[in-house]
Amino acid sequence: MLSRLFRLHGLFVASHPWEVIVGTVAVTICLMSMNAFATNDQICAWNHQCPKVQEKILSGDVIILTVTRCVAIIYIYIQFKNLRQLGSKYILGIAGLFTIFSSFVFSSVVVHFLGKELTGLNEALPFFLLLIDLSKACTLAKFALSSNSQEEVRENIAQGMAILGPTFTLDAVVECLVIGVGTVSGVRQLEIMCGFGCMSVLANYFVFMTFFPACVSLVLELSRESREGRPIWQLSHFARVLEEEEGNKPNPVTQKVKMIMSLGLALVHAHSRLVTESQTHNMSGSDVVLVDLEQVITLSLALLLAAKYVFFEQAATESSLSIRSPVATPSCSLTNRRGDERCQRESAPPKALMGVPMNKSEGELPDPSDGHQTDELQSHQRRPMDECLMILKDPRVIHQSLSHAYPDFINQGARCLTNAEVMALVECRGILGYRLEAVMESPERGVAIRREILSSKLPAASALENLPYRHYDYSQVIGTNCENVIGYVPVPVGVAGPLLLDRKEFHVPMATTEGCLVASTNRGCRAVTLSGGVSSRVLADGMTRGPVVQMPSACRAAEVKGWLESPEGFSAVKQAFDHTSRFARLDRLQVSLAGRNLYIRFQSQTGDAMGMNMLSKGTEQALSRLRECYPDMRLLAVSGNYCTDKKHAAVNWIHGRGKSTVCEAVIPARVVQEVLKSSTAALVELNISKNLVGSAMAGSIGGFNAHAANIVTAIYIACGQDPAQTVGSSNCITLMECVGTVGEDLCVSCTMPSLELGTVGGGTGLPAQHACLQMLGVHGSSDQCPGENSRTLARIVCATVLAGELSLMAALAAGHLVKSHMTHNRIKTIFGSGLKKLMYFKEKNIF
Ligand code: NAP
Repeated sequence: MLSRLFRLHGLFVASHPWEVIVGTVAVTICLMSMNAFATNDQICAWNHQCPKVQEKILSGDVIILTVTRCVAIIYIYIQFKNLRQLGSKYILGIAGLFTIFSSFVFSSVVVHFLGKELTGLNEALPFFLLLIDLSKACTLAKFALSSNSQEEVRENIAQGMAILGPTFTLDAVVECLVIGVGTVSGVRQLEIMCGFGCMSVLANYFVFMTFFPACVSLVLELSRESREGRPIWQLSHFARVLEEEEGNKPNPVTQKVKMIMSLGLALVHAHSRLVTESQTHNMSGSDVVLVDLEQVITLSLALLLAAKYVFFEQAATESSLSIRSPVATPSCSLTNRRGDERCQRESAPPKALMGVPMNKSEGELPDPSDGHQTDELQSHQRRPMDECLMILKDPRVIHQSLSHAYPDFINQGARCLTNAEVMALVECRGILGYRLEAVMESPERGVAIRREILSSKLPAASALENLPYRHYDYSQVIGTNCENVIGYVPVPVGVAGPLLLDRKEFHVPMATTEGCLVASTNRGCRAVTLSGGVSSRVLADGMTRGPVVQMPSACRAAEVKGWLESPEGFSAVKQAFDHTSRFARLDRLQVSLAGRNLYIRFQSQTGDAMGMNMLSKGTEQALSRLRECYPDMRLLAVSGNYCTDKKHAAVNWIHGRGKSTVCEAVIPARVVQEVLKSSTAALVELNISKNLVGSAMAGSIGGFNAHAANIVTAIYIACGQDPAQTVGSSNCITLMECVGTVGEDLCVSCTMPSLELGTVGGGTGLPAQHACLQMLGVHGSSDQCPGENSRTLARIVCATVLAGELSLMAALAAGHLVKSHMTHNRIKTIFGSGLKKLMYFKEKNIF
């Protein structure tokens, strides 16, 4: 409830940054004007025009104050540095300082309204600086920086607020209470200071909850590369990491600051008392010298750190930030031969200092992922292997604050190595070849270097030139979809449709290089859509996994079979199975025996996922449970080919696997004639002779169709399905009958018992494949009913197969097949391309 409230608040602030910033600044200005009025007669220590209170300052006090001020300055400097690691040189820091400033303005005005006189506040300033914790600002900013779009920025700020808001609120309350103790101390100065401290904490809290998130939201919006592009500060994983960490651990920095603050307030109190006692005495000459010295030290330190921050912090920050650029630039100085030295500024003299040669125009830095750096230049600058290894392992290249988000990088300094050096390291196994993407500062550079290594081993060094690899989000692929990546193969995607299916229109994406296929399917879609569309049903939904286990004897195996088929055995195994997933639910066990070998076919619904991994996981647990009852059972393999996955098998054809689907359409004689250029009788006759008798003659299992695999494969590739599962998924029987009053209309149906597909997991999350699923409105998990998206996809595949069957059968019946393939597949040689080709298609009524 509380989190929800903070989330809404965060969302509001991040969505209306201008309003919030202007509002907060306006309130502050109003307060300042009141304060200006107030200072004339009350808060004298802040007003240099006030008559100076003559104070006797002890040398011990001066030392304490000097040290405290220096600590406060260093503390603020460190806070700025931390913020800068997030990519902000000034803005976040200034927003933080504004928080401090507002605290003072707000507090002093409130103290004034309370009618209190406030002296000695300048001595207390350092302690109030220590009170401010910019790490809160860092933490919230990290949430925002984990976003890919402005919408996500708002969402993540809201999420950050939901997680951090309650903690901060509690912190503020606790701080107020602790400091508030001082207000009842009976010591007047301390009471005023503590009152002031409480106000500061409250003001700080107020500004943090309003002004700061608004600033972050605005800054991220303004720093976007383009409205569509990613924010330049994008740091993925922050939010997730923080979500896991926040709330569990108390922040040690905050704890420390709270302790310092308490100590500080005690010192203020002590100091104030001493000052009060000696207020009547004049300052001596040595006191003046001491005070001057104190000011000189404080000022010098502040100037020194400011200069360091402005002029000398660039390199370290850029080195930690550049891991975010898709193609990083090696920026280590070759003159820095020791592995423990930091990367230098990119603006350092390029040729003399950089670790890679200039291969572009003067002044432009070379791209380390460029696979064409010549060997000569690379070897010219190659450092010894042990030195490269040292640089690779240098833990200081990446800033510690990013270590939890990039665990792989903390021990890696690969960005400081040239391609040639990395390749040499791969050769001597200093870097494992398959880990290149993880070790490099960007996956794309890892892919580029792997290509470079591979190119030298191929018959033609230029072989990879036309295999693209740039501009691909490999982070989604690594560890999920592909290993040893060297690029990607673009496959043309066509669209067939509209396809009217169960009164809804679909435009079906098909990835193929087979000319004719999309055009032909499109014609089939037109025929069924003109005929009132396709009707479909999902008959069964259950993925399977069939392990093989062995018992000491065939009789013992039969005993196990009996137990598994008993209600007691089934429910024991089901309990273990269902425990492994939110979606997998064991529906059926099909047990077969071959001697002492036992084949158990687990069948389960899998929500919107295709479900193979899910089934494997559940099966393993179920077998563990089985072993508890039968310890003499030996597991031979979690897959005993009784599933059956990616191989033709009658078990899938007969019992189904994945989604079992049926669809039908009635095509009026007129449409058969005008669109399909055939007749119902010819189609029915051909279907019997080819798809039924012909396939029976060939001993086919599940192949009673014309070309279901064509359509299944094209949709599977476009929509990120496992292409190998087209083997079982293409099982289909196509039936055609004459219907209608005069028997001239065509009733066509396709029954597909084993469509193995999903809209979650596997390749469905990759951007292009996800886009194709989006075209169909079935991407990801179904909100209403898990499993509905994948079932809809199954119906779409089945209906598109029906359209494809119709069109191909019609082409065959009319004797057009070879002719149209020749013209479509070899169209360039006959017609050239472009307009003539289009006109030919139009003329032949192919679209
Ligand atoms: P998966 O990505 O391994 O599992 C699906 C994940 O999505 C699960 O963690 C599931 O949660 C979650 N999920 C979220 N919303 C869901 C929803 N609405 N419906 C279903 N799950 C949802 O996918 P999979 O389909 O099980 O496996 C597909 C992968 O297996 C493909 O990469 C394929 O290439 C591969 N494959 C594996 C084998 C094999 O033998 N292991 C064989 C062939 C293919 P829960 O954690 O709660 O379940």
